[in-house]
Amino acid sequence: MTQTASNAALTGQVAVVTGSGRGIGAAIAASLANLGARVVLCGRSRPSLEATAETIQKRGGQSSVIECDVTNLHSVEALADRVDRTFSKVHILVNNAGIGGAGGPLHMLAPDVWDQVLNTNLRGVYYCMRSLVPLMMRSQGGHIINISSIVGKNPLPNGAAYAASKWGLNGLSYSVAEELRGSNIRVSVICPGSTHTEFSPHAGMNTERMLQPSDVAHAVAMIVTQAPQSFASEIVLRPTQKP
Ligand code: NDP
Repeated sequence: MTQTASNAALTGQVAVVTGSGRGIGAAIAASLANLGARVVLCGRSRPSLEATAETIQKRGGQSSVIECDVTNLHSVEALADRVDRTFSKVHILVNNAGIGGAGGPLHMLAPDVWDQVLNTNLRGVYYCMRSLVPLMMRSQGGHIINISSIVGKNPLPNGAAYAASKWGLNGLSYSVAEELRGSNIRVSVICPGSTHTEFSPHAGMNTERMLQPSDVAHAVAMIVTQAPQSFASEIVLRPTQKP
């Protein structure tokens, strides 16, 4: 598909999307590419990133694949260095990479699972901001969109580590939004309800009623195409019918 004037709102912009090899991240990356952005696809598995890149290319969009583990500061710094050397700017950062972790009561959770969940869902976002915000400042502004969860606003029995990571991500997002306002960088958080991906079996839910990855991508597209004087700092996304 060729870009048209109406869908090329992000032409000339560089967007980094973590966890874009599948699920919500892949849908966000495809949507941003469709809006004309050059999208940097990152995650740990190159084949899945390449599959997203192929989909984007078939639709006439542009993307680059960079392997990155958001829990590893050196890996994230290497990503930022590659982006700097290749594009010398970043306008959009979508912190989407996330994991759920094992279910069960917190007192029975293994410490290494706690570490994996918090290191991916919260520390990884800090690493990405630490490494990419300076580039964004050089671009004189931009958007950071953190993919949290409705679980970041509610209790999740048998998923306390995940809930803690997303409550933490919300607090981080609200705070950094204030830090970066003056630099013309708008930090938003999206809190989707259950979304139909490989993330979790979502046992007993009607998958047709669940949110789809494209619904989250649509919310991201709305945020990055807002007029410069306003920003939706938080979007809570619910399915119309309970799944
Ligand atoms: P998926 O499991 O389908 O995809 C997760 C993505 O994150 C994969 O591309 C994975 O790639 C990447 N990822 C995981 N760990 C790392 C890491 N250490 N470094 C880099 N990339 C990593 O999940 P969803 O698409 O469903 O979830 C995306 C986000 O949305 C998550 O933050 C999740 O918490 C959130 N969310 C999901 C909901 C749902 O019901 N699905 C509801 C609300 C929020 P790879 O393994 O190749 O690294």
